[in-house]
Amino acid sequence: MPGTCSIITYHYVRELSETRYPRICGLTETNFRGQLDYLARHYRFVTLDEVLDACHGSRELPPNAAVLTFDDGYLDHYTNVFPLLDRMGIQGWFFPPVCAVDERRVLDVNKIHFVLASVESTRELLDSVFARLDRLRVDGHEIESNEALFERLAVAGRFDGPELVFVKRLLQRELPERPRAAVVDDLFRHFVTDDETAFARELYVSRDQLLTMRRHGMVIGGHGYSHRWLDTLPEDQQAFEIESSVAFLESLGVSMERWVMCYPYGAHNESLRRICAGAGCGLGVTTETAIARMETSQALEMPRLDTNHLPTDASATPSPWTIEIQKQPA
Ligand SMILES: [Zn+2]
Repeated sequence: MPGTCSIITYHYVRELSETRYPRICGLTETNFRGQLDYLARHYRFVTLDEVLDACHGSRELPPNAAVLTFDDGYLDHYTNVFPLLDRMGIQGWFFPPVCAVDERRVLDVNKIHFVLASVESTRELLDSVFARLDRLRVDGHEIESNEALFERLAVAGRFDGPELVFVKRLLQRELPERPRAAVVDDLFRHFVTDDETAFARELYVSRDQLLTMRRHGMVIGGHGYSHRWLDTLPEDQQAFEIESSVAFLESLGVSMERWVMCYPYGAHNESLRRICAGAGCGLGVTTETAIARMETSQALEMPRLDTNHLPTDASATPSPWTIEIQKQPA
């Protein structure tokens, strides 16, 4: 029976209440430390080499193997995460998109986060969005009417009311890519800042920081060039995204024999996986929620858990995800 590995996903890790955007959804440093203690108690941290070997049958992982992965290249990861992992001898896997580091552009997904963390009221946000959609229609973009869009997309979510769900769905995926980027950018300039470069400098790691992390044994993996939904792109653009990632990682001195790819939004398809494999990618991680099985056929679509699936206190009752691996024969 193949082994398993709990690959855990992190995004923002910061003392939220002490930042300018306390409404950003993330893990506090205190809770991150608590979660590390919990994991150290119940899991064994493993490395990329061990996972790759296990996937290809040449090594077995301990039954309670775990890996920590950090998406999007936030500066949080360098300042708040890396020193702790380094001290504890844990190898973290970090996935910075090229354009955030090299061009100091703020990813659309982050623009949306900070717009939502900045607006005073949902009403104001909704009015702003509708006004921008109206303008796009005047400019000739074919977009459904505001009423039809709202009718289709506004449903109450687990944590958000229908208005907020509407805005998130519209801006994250539903509008066609070009007008979507335009609206997101416009809202970001209006509600957050018109100095995207300065904002990106404060939000993302630098090349030097990534080099330091790599020298200390951290894994730097691919997260594409521009953080788009790669499953929706034609093959030549998929290839561009992967080639840019490869060139970026090479320039950081990452060994490209068996590198690891994290698909933005977890979105991948057959052609993308083929391009990745052709470029020497040995492992791909997604956003599907499950404990990963170490099987060669799964290597390019490894599911992960989210930090929210696990406790943030060493003495907490084990979560169902932990009980699940403890049940398996050693
Ligand atoms: Zn991402």
